[in-house]
Amino acid sequence: MPELPEVESLTAFLRERAVGRTVLAVDVLAIQALKTFDPPVGALGGLTVTGVARHGKFLDLDCDGLHLVIHLARAGWLRWRDDLSGAKPVRPGKGPLAVRVRFAPDDAGLAPGFELTEAGTQKRLAVYVTKDPDTVPGIAALGPDPLDDAFTVDALKRIVGGNRTQIKGLLRDQKIIAGIGNAYSDEVLHVARMSPFKIAATLTDAQIADLHEAIVTTLREAVERAHGLAAKDLKVEKKSGLRVHNRAGQPCDVCGDTIREVSFADSSLQYCPTCQTGGKPLADRRLSRLLK
Ligand SMILES: [Zn+2]
Repeated sequence: MPELPEVESLTAFLRERAVGRTVLAVDVLAIQALKTFDPPVGALGGLTVTGVARHGKFLDLDCDGLHLVIHLARAGWLRWRDDLSGAKPVRPGKGPLAVRVRFAPDDAGLAPGFELTEAGTQKRLAVYVTKDPDTVPGIAALGPDPLDDAFTVDALKRIVGGNRTQIKGLLRDQKIIAGIGNAYSDEVLHVARMSPFKIAATLTDAQIADLHEAIVTTLREAVERAHGLAAKDLKVEKKSGLRVHNRAGQPCDVCGDTIREVSFADSSLQYCPTCQTGGKPLADRRLSRLLK
């Protein structure tokens, strides 16, 4: 699932390639992906891309004031195509291709564009056509962006203060902090040497400062690693840069202990017992509930 660092580099990638180009057409092949009907998607035809921005995990293409907003969700991805002029028409509802954005041919006669694909059967990829990105429900509700200067230690202190949820859940709640998902919350907590089950409100000032440092450095480093990579290479880079996420059973690079996994909410999390939980493995609540 693309999180802040990947969406940030997709944003830079698209800014470089798409700004200044005229939209020829936006083909929506997965009907359920389109979440808005007014203005119609056809209204983007003929408009010029004037900017590309990121809001949390949302991509936002500004086309002369009309915005094409994209949320790749869990299994969605973006693929740049240097020339779509020969691309075959695709029948809606077949295969992973959800949306195709085609630009007008350039001086070299190439008609580039990009495709949004979504693997698997759970279709969550979403696109919106709107004059105001803040009307997209997921954007309107976003918490502060961790790469924003306003995200200070004091801001994080206000966020965790009095919050009785587990820190893992807090970190990936888009309404509390924007852009962090399942992978980078695992990474941040490993860097901060903190148990994912720790209750936010119990953090000391020193721990909040450590957590802030871990959030900002982890995301900035991931953005730097991904910088300049082609969209197709981002997934591989994300995987190779991870310290604990999806690495259960492998040794921790910091201490050599075996990385463990425990269920959490609708998925699972990975952590290092020595680095994060005083050497004690976390109890799997889902498992212990089943055993009762
Ligand atoms: Zn470790």
